[in-house]
Amino acid sequence: MIKDHSDIPSLDKRVPGVPAIEPVIFPRLEALYARRSARLEELAFQLVKEAAQTEPSSAEAEEINAGYFSFLSGLVAAQGRLLAGSPLSLAEAEPIRVLLCGKNTSPDIPTQEMLEKSLYWQKAFSTFVDDAGAQLQAETQDALKALALEKPDVLATQAYSLLSGQYDQVDAGAAVFLWAALSAFWAQAIALLADEDKALKQRRSEGGACPCCGAPPSGALVLTGDREGLRYLQCSLCETRWHKVRATCSVCDATDHIDYWSFENTNAPIQAETCGDCKSYVKLFRLDRDPVLEVLADDLATVVLDAALEDQGFIRAALNPFALPA
Ligand SMILES: [Zn+2]
Ligand SMILES: [Zn+2]
Repeated sequence: MIKDHSDIPSLDKRVPGVPAIEPVIFPRLEALYARRSARLEELAFQLVKEAAQTEPSSAEAEEINAGYFSFLSGLVAAQGRLLAGSPLSLAEAEPIRVLLCGKNTSPDIPTQEMLEKSLYWQKAFSTFVDDAGAQLQAETQDALKALALEKPDVLATQAYSLLSGQYDQVDAGAAVFLWAALSAFWAQAIALLADEDKALKQRRSEGGACPCCGAPPSGALVLTGDREGLRYLQCSLCETRWHKVRATCSVCDATDHIDYWSFENTNAPIQAETCGDCKSYVKLFRLDRDPVLEVLADDLATVVLDAALEDQGFIRAALNPFALPA
């Protein structure tokens, strides 16, 4: 089962005494992709079951939704196959090492030129279009294939827009493939560089962005097992988790007006943590209450909670690459 294959590495128990809280935890990427893909497929299956029990008027919407979860499961599986078949080399990770620039906090943001010269993610994009893209309608597939054949500067322009939050500048349908390719590039690069440079394990977040790549989090986790009760934010791009003391706003660091919301009882495994000071919120995935939860998949499955919070005037501080704002 999924819970036996956590992508969070165990603590190093060779050091006696109370373990220090690690500022960042790098995932076991292979396990992360396998878990995420399996969870997306499981949620797709649940949606199909719900569609069968619902009224015909809403059944169609649930089936379309299930189809999207299933497509995403295939895309994440393709990320896993890339990792196994064409892993990133240390030389290919060099442009990302340059962005880290030896500092201990926020890295530099990538330039369009850096994205244009980094061919690894561009090849990954093309591979994902051929692989997971086969599940899409012919018209969407053709548009994606045409984009994959464009010169590197065209893809780099779109990738740059995506990473700088200018979503309206990115071709519809291409964004999720671009993110999957960029994310597989960044996540492997950070893992390789962390093996080389121990200082990467000590990086700390500034202003709520990932300390290793500068991207926003996709959500927060409360861990279980060796790290029971510790809270980490998970990066939407490089998949690094960084520590954040619980009941502290992930955006403004305030602690005075933090509240927890859910549709269930107070022991709900998924809650929204709101900050009354800056009006932001992130979803909290309590692995200590349900270890099968996966940030991206379960975030997408709980969009009704986002709608309810936005009605209350809160602004989402997290980014899910599977549900980018239009
Ligand atoms: Zn990151
Ligand atoms: Zn705040």
